[in-house]
Amino acid sequence: MSSGSLLRVAVGPRFAAPLLDYLAPAEGPVPPVGGRVSAPLGKGKRTGFVIKHLDASDVPAERLRPVLEVLDAEPLWDPVTLEVLRWAANYYCHPLGQVLAYALPQHLRRGGQLPAPPSFWRACGKALGVAPELPARAPRQRELLEQLLAAGRGGLAERALASRARDWRRIVRILEEKGLAESFEREIPEPAVMLREEPLALSREQSAAVNAMPMDRGYACHLLDGVTASGKTEVYLHLVEQVLASGRQCLLLAPEIGLTPQLAERLKARFRVPAAVLHSGLGDGERLNAWVDARAGRARLVVGTRSAVFVPCRELGLIVVDEEHDPSYKQQDGFRYQARDLAVMRASRAGIPVVLGSATPALESLLNVQRGRYTHPRLTKKVTGSRPPLARLVDLNRHPPEHGLSAPLLQAMSEQLESGSQVLLYLNRRGFAPVLMCPDCRRSEECSHCDARLVFYRRRDLLLCHHCGARRRPPPVCENCGSPLQTIGRGTERLEEELQARFEDFPVARMDRDNVRGRRRLENILGGIRERHYRILLGTQMLTKGHDFPSLGLVGVIDADQGMFSQEFRGPERLAQTLVQVAGRAGRRERPGLLVLQTRFPEHPLLRQLLKEGYGGFAATALDLRRRSGWPPYAHLALLRANAPEAASVREFLEQAIGVVPQDGSGSAVEVLGPAPALMERRRDRSHAHLLARSSSRARLQEYLGRWIPAVRKLPCRRRVSWSLDVDPAEIG
Ligand code: ADP
Ligand code: ZN
Ligand code: ZN
Repeated sequence: MSSGSLLRVAVGPRFAAPLLDYLAPAEGPVPPVGGRVSAPLGKGKRTGFVIKHLDASDVPAERLRPVLEVLDAEPLWDPVTLEVLRWAANYYCHPLGQVLAYALPQHLRRGGQLPAPPSFWRACGKALGVAPELPARAPRQRELLEQLLAAGRGGLAERALASRARDWRRIVRILEEKGLAESFEREIPEPAVMLREEPLALSREQSAAVNAMPMDRGYACHLLDGVTASGKTEVYLHLVEQVLASGRQCLLLAPEIGLTPQLAERLKARFRVPAAVLHSGLGDGERLNAWVDARAGRARLVVGTRSAVFVPCRELGLIVVDEEHDPSYKQQDGFRYQARDLAVMRASRAGIPVVLGSATPALESLLNVQRGRYTHPRLTKKVTGSRPPLARLVDLNRHPPEHGLSAPLLQAMSEQLESGSQVLLYLNRRGFAPVLMCPDCRRSEECSHCDARLVFYRRRDLLLCHHCGARRRPPPVCENCGSPLQTIGRGTERLEEELQARFEDFPVARMDRDNVRGRRRLENILGGIRERHYRILLGTQMLTKGHDFPSLGLVGVIDADQGMFSQEFRGPERLAQTLVQVAGRAGRRERPGLLVLQTRFPEHPLLRQLLKEGYGGFAATALDLRRRSGWPPYAHLALLRANAPEAASVREFLEQAIGVVPQDGSGSAVEVLGPAPALMERRRDRSHAHLLARSSSRARLQEYLGRWIPAVRKLPCRRRVSWSLDVDPAEIG
């Protein structure tokens, strides 16, 4: 059997293993790898991806069936993106068919046709002067021809024609038959950059950064390390301009574009070129158009969240990953990939530069700088020249807080508010109180589905589980002993009430996921903040994400200890990043801002160092700790997670998984720890546990997983649990 006529296909709807072998159709070209086919399955048919061309199959020839239809004459992805997808499937041990399906817009995933490029119509040369001669009984032909003539050689898009005449297609066909009009596919636009606005003149630091990142010398990874408002985005825009001018596309990734659309807006304000913006708020049709435009090279700018790293581009010249440290670049379910890491991989395969930007780079990225893999251009000053905020630790042991606010913080707030500034308070805890407890028997209200306390919401008179969403009415008194219940601690809902009572003249804007649902509401609140209707801003993590608050004079961190004693190995890094990002909101104009951190551990070395030396100093120590304790980025991890209603099934599965760990050869380079229960063992009525594989060598771990995971897939008790592998996990719990 000749090579190429045998196909290995991942068949939908789940596209998971096992892959099936088929014959290529007897007639016509062999379907390409990375293209779709319609394949018979049992009595029905399914869409599948061609994963491989085979020389031989283990299936006896008489049982091989031919695919029914070839859906794509060419691969859906450009060769580099397809290679990245393959690499990712292999690296993250995820079935390639599922990876390919994940990377497609829904319409294509379901077997729909790749839309043809938009067509245009224009008048032919011989139509000049003809319009008046068209028969008087054909006024609509005349009208349409006149419109085409007016549009010139560029013609009109079919979409535009459809909006002008109901019956346009029939009419334009008549004109075509008469040789008066023709359809054509618009060429890719000229590479000339069309600037909508003048670029800003760069500061000396910005120019140095731009010069340190050549756009015409192939692959290089640059970690653009710049404090908040140092003009990183402006640097991206200058690089993008160079790349567009050389006739190439730019791909820019941002975390959670639904909440932070600034990047896309600034690009559109600067460049008059077609852009495709991909984010979760798009409808299926819009997403498909954006994807198709990027693939065809019609969109010169492609902006999106993490999954945009898989969008095919015809002639990519640059990838930018903004806020590269942001945890949302890691997909946390299904196909668990790290989009920043894949962006670097994609750039290296494509031979193009990649820029990772952040005010608080991930420790991984900083280590890559140390090892000489990334360059490290830095922006140390705010563009406005304002100095970094003056920071102060407030020891809560010495200044016991009243309603969560210590006397020094209260005083700083009053001063700022009286002088007309805005004040931001950061508290990463939603609800009224995290605990509702009986003071006599110490019983607290817990979720019956999770190992978690229920959060009390007073306004809604509700107990809510933040892990599974379970809700119930709080009991009037302790169900155990009848004593009245007490709230312990405070969340944003409570602090909001307390602030409003204390600062009556200064309206409070609360930004958290309970209060701000959806884009509209967010825009409203942000508008109220810009117009300075709100004077006190109170919020969770949501506040730290890129929003600009120009008249902010003070940032108060209500509880700096939250997270410092986290059991997660990335806990301190995340805390430091959050504190620095929150602090960056203060003093964006002339005056330096003020940062007040409330803590019960003012001697904590992490906090001290962060305050004294900034994020860079903190990162150096944190890296040293990771090195000495053997955690990433000095070690490489893979977490095999499992859950089931019964703890026993989980245990049995993980024990069996240990039983099949590869023993020979490189086995000793990888250690497997566990089974260990998850930090929250019981969640959503299921018991969670894991095994942790760790190695100092990424290659060894990969090789190990390549032998281990296929064996795990065959374990007899795998069907009784839900399990997944997480390579380079963001967290262990
Ligand atoms: P970052 O991305 O580092 O937070 P931005 O690029 O958003 O910083 O810059 C912060 C502010 O400074 C923006 O309002 C931007 O328009 C302005 N800005 C940036 N670079 C310059 C410059 N060279 N000259 C004048 N204003 C600038
Ligand atoms: Zn009680
Ligand atoms: Zn729960």
